[in-house]
Amino acid sequence: MQTPPDVTPYIGKLIQFRRDLHAHPELKFEETRTSGQVAAWLQALGLPIHRGMGGTGLVATLRGMGPNAGDPGRAIGLRADMDALPVQEVNNFDYVSANPGRMHACGHDGHTTMLLGGATLLAKNPDFNGTVHFIFQPGEEGGAGARFMMEDGLFDKFPMKSVFALHNWPALPAGEMGVRIGPIMASANRFEIRIRGKGGHAAQPHTTIDPIPIACTIVGELQKLVSRGVDPLDSAVVTVGKIESGTVENIIPNEAFIYGTCRTLGAATLQQLVEGLQRISTNIAQAHRATAEVIIKPGYPTTVNTPDEARFMARVMGEVVGAGNAHDDVLPAMTSEDFGFMLEKVPGAYGFIGNGPDGKPGVNLHNAAYDFNDDNLGRGASFWDTLVRRWFEQQA
Ligand SMILES: [Zn+2]
Ligand SMILES: [Zn+2]
Repeated sequence: MQTPPDVTPYIGKLIQFRRDLHAHPELKFEETRTSGQVAAWLQALGLPIHRGMGGTGLVATLRGMGPNAGDPGRAIGLRADMDALPVQEVNNFDYVSANPGRMHACGHDGHTTMLLGGATLLAKNPDFNGTVHFIFQPGEEGGAGARFMMEDGLFDKFPMKSVFALHNWPALPAGEMGVRIGPIMASANRFEIRIRGKGGHAAQPHTTIDPIPIACTIVGELQKLVSRGVDPLDSAVVTVGKIESGTVENIIPNEAFIYGTCRTLGAATLQQLVEGLQRISTNIAQAHRATAEVIIKPGYPTTVNTPDEARFMARVMGEVVGAGNAHDDVLPAMTSEDFGFMLEKVPGAYGFIGNGPDGKPGVNLHNAAYDFNDDNLGRGASFWDTLVRRWFEQQA
């Protein structure tokens, strides 16, 4: 086994690059400056770049020096996401967001920079027997940028045997990493329930079909879908995040609207919840002479790690952060990830790199006070470098 190269000489530049991205966050599919900076870094390494995939996405390719490096089947993909969120940052360090209402609150500035660090180490020492595609995707935050890159031919133009991704994880202290076999993030599905009654005067409720108490009853009963319907050892979420109805206090409205999200780790549980949403909504509405229409809007699929790739990723984590700091059995999260689309097509694994400072949990993702932990830039770069070298060694 070869010894991975030392990342120390590159850390200063990586921190500078990450903080520059942090100061210039761009929302989904608007990552033109970001992808330009990424392309410039990769071009300086001498890598061929394919731009404009899924909008602002790009792929850079590095072929190792090994004798079979170009063989079909000897290619893997590493993926980072580039987009920021519509959050007004409250931090006051000198690289705080310069774009009002936009912020790298999910650490994608760090993901992008860690992968550039990995590409740098690999490009300087390309003594491995295979090909790596570095995938920089747009629009992870609700934009399904991964799917758009796939629709633009990601896996046809760049066939790859496996694909890997990392997300920083504030609940895990920096210096620790984790992964698991099977589902690691949930599928996310939005739902909307439209309740139609009959409006009228607030003082004459008997002449109306008031949709508001019906909506309230439906929301209450939906709480039992998970608590009474889902195996306690399985995981699922039904959350109503918004209810909308009425104008003023003396009018009973015609309609009420309920909006929510439904998340599961498996397709069967999702199907069960969707049927439950329909059944409860339509029957409660009918019991009160109203009607209910349920609209399901499928979002990201479950992110499911394949066993071989997850086990392999865990071994590499152990090598990089020490066996005691690498977890191969982290709990799945009910957040969701468009990397799930990639894992539906290609085997692979998605893992966590701890982001909490000083051995403690850090500020949550999507919080206005969040920041990516720069200690992870060197660690993440070494992780990507080691993963590639070990992958092709085990393929030998
Ligand atoms: Zn996010
Ligand atoms: Zn994220």
